[in-house]
This record gives sequence, C-alpha cells and structure tokens, in this order.
Amino acid sequence: MPMKSPPHVLIVGASRGIGLELVRQYLADGALVTATARDDASLQRLRELGARALKLDVTSAASVAGLAWQVDGSHFSTVVINAGVYGPRLRTLDTPTDTDFDQVMHTNVLGPMRVVPQLLDALAPQARLAVMSSRMGSIGSRTANSGWLYRASKAALNSVLKDLSLALIDRAICVALHPGWVRTDMGGEQADLPVETSARMLRGTIAGLAATDSGHFFDHDGTPIPW
Ligand code: NDP
Repeated sequence: MPMKSPPHVLIVGASRGIGLELVRQYLADGALVTATARDDASLQRLRELGARALKLDVTSAASVAGLAWQVDGSHFSTVVINAGVYGPRLRTLDTPTDTDFDQVMHTNVLGPMRVVPQLLDALAPQARLAVMSSRMGSIGSRTANSGWLYRASKAALNSVLKDLSLALIDRAICVALHPGWVRTDMGGEQADLPVETSARMLRGTIAGLAATDSGHFFDHDGTPIPW
C-alpha cells in the first residue's frame, strides 16, 4: 500500500512568538513545515528545528515577488499568515503618523494581500488558509479605547480574508483567527495564555475546520467571533 505523505504546512512570520511555536508543534506532529523569517539567525534556527526556511519580509514587494517560485511544487494543506505588528499604543483620536500608519497597514493588510496570490498554485485541494487576526479587529464587539491603528488594521485584514474566502470558494477554507491574549513580545508578560497553549488550540481549530466555516472569524478555541 502506498505511504500517505505527511501534511505540508506553511507558516508566514515564524521567527518568534506564536509563529515559531506553531512551527515547533507542527513539526512535532510529523508535518512537513515551510516557515518564513526576515533575518538570517531566525532562518538558521528554523532549519535547525527541521523546517524548510524561506526569507520573507511581507512589507517588501521585491521579497514577496519570489515566493511563488520558491514554493513551486509544494502542496500546502495548511497556510497560516501570522506576521503582524502592533505599532504605537494609540488611543482613539490620537492621529497616527504617516510612518506608523504605513508600517502597520503594510504589514497587517498589504502583506497578506501580497502573499496569498503568490501561493495559489501551491495550495492542496481544500487547503486551510488562516490569517492571524485579532479580536481587537472585531467591529461587532468593540468596547475599549486603545489600539486605534492596530484595530483598524485587523478590521481591514478581516475584510481581506472575507474576500479571499469568496475568491477561493471550492479551493480553500479561509478563516480569520484570534490567538487569544498570548505571552509573546507583542502580548506582553501579563497576557492570559502561554504561547504553547495558544498554538495548540489554534492547531485544533484549524484541523477541525469544515467547508462551511470558510469566510468566518474564530477564537483560538473555535468559538465564532462577530466581524
Ligand atoms: P510577535 O511580535 O511575538 O511576533 C510577530 C511576528 O511577525 C514575528 O515573527 C515577526 O518577525 C513577524 N513580522 C513582523 N513584521 C514582519 C514583516 N514585515 N515580514 C515578515 N514577518 C514579520 O507577535 P505574536 O507572536 O504575539 O503575534 C503573532 C500574530 O498574532 C500577529 O499577527 C498578531 O497581530 C496576532 N495577535 C497576537 C496577540 C497576542 O496576544 N500576542 C493577540 C491577537 C493577535 P521579526 O522577528 O522579523 O520581527
């Protein structure tokens, strides 16, 4: 009987935090993992862990342009677009500078818009494509008065994801995910969840996705979140 080949997972933005932990856990599960990072030391560490490592800066058109060629021949069953930045801690009515606006929007919104088209030929049938959003991007559950720019970027990312789900209908299950409030450089030390727990629950949620889940927004434990 032919051996079933292991699933192939792509994690975009895997130098540290949630992305790196997803790489560790998918590898421990026996998946083939391709992972991206921006700096050579992170690429080396990813290779030492057993991943195929690709250099990628999602804010650079030139860097992303080579991606389709680099992943040619791959059949990703799971893709997680995880790279993201928080930017300055702005309260509502604190006007962002052009530089801060460009950095946050380029990374969190333009990045996925650039990266996903490069991956289309490398998606396995019914692949799971997840973007790492944030509950802070949910317009339907807004209460706080902090993170004005970051919230706007994740709300825009959610719109991008919804359109991807329509464009890729019958090709991929496309979802936005909230990882929880996680102890990473971004989440800080007071955050609720260890990164191991967030990554484990995210993997479970991704594995449990059905075709009818495409175009929706889920918490790390699989609970739907309003747009
Ligand atoms: P970290 O700040 O720990 O890690 C961010 C990751 O994104 C790093 O690997 C970083 O790479 C990468 N990245 C940033 N900019 C770029 C870029 N231009 N090109 C490629 N990679 C880039 O964050 P977390 O692990 O906490 O967060 C991961 C995702 O989860 C983010 O999208 C974040 O918005 C989201 N999230 C996190 C929450 C939390 O509580 N931690 C809560 C809700 C959402 P590098 O090392 O090169 O900077």
